[in-house]
Amino acid sequence: MKVTQIKHMTFAVRDVDRSLDAYKRLLGVSDEVQVKEFHKSRNRAAVFELGGIEFQVTQSMDADGRFASWIDQRGHEGLHHLCFAVENIDAALAEAQAHGATLKECSACKVTGSHIHPEGWVAFLQDEVSGIEIEFMQVYKEGEGGDRPQGV
Ligand SMILES: [Zn+2]
Repeated sequence: MKVTQIKHMTFAVRDVDRSLDAYKRLLGVSDEVQVKEFHKSRNRAAVFELGGIEFQVTQSMDADGRFASWIDQRGHEGLHHLCFAVENIDAALAEAQAHGATLKECSACKVTGSHIHPEGWVAFLQDEVSGIEIEFMQVYKEGEGGDRPQGV
């Protein structure tokens, strides 16, 4: 297993507009960053780079959506998952599973295991580290990826 970088950190929030405003006021995030709607995954998200890492600050459009339910279960907003870039996602998943990990369905795509996302092949684990869900991504190289659905 070789994690090459943190690809992104995804935060679950109740009010992404208010949250983005705080990032702008307190951490110097550009005023040009705007909240976008991702209809496939039913989220509203602000995506920006901060300290060399992509932040995805995400609010469910529906009261029972993925991030809204997570907040309800835990009772607070917070770091929902970390996406770790790996060189080979199939090898990473095989190794994690050999060490007892269980795959989790992607809530946007309803696919369990490695599948295509806009930036790379991704997969989620049921398992957590320090209370944080784990996503793996094998980022596409030039010419890879094919048909790329939109979604966060
Ligand atoms: Zn997916």
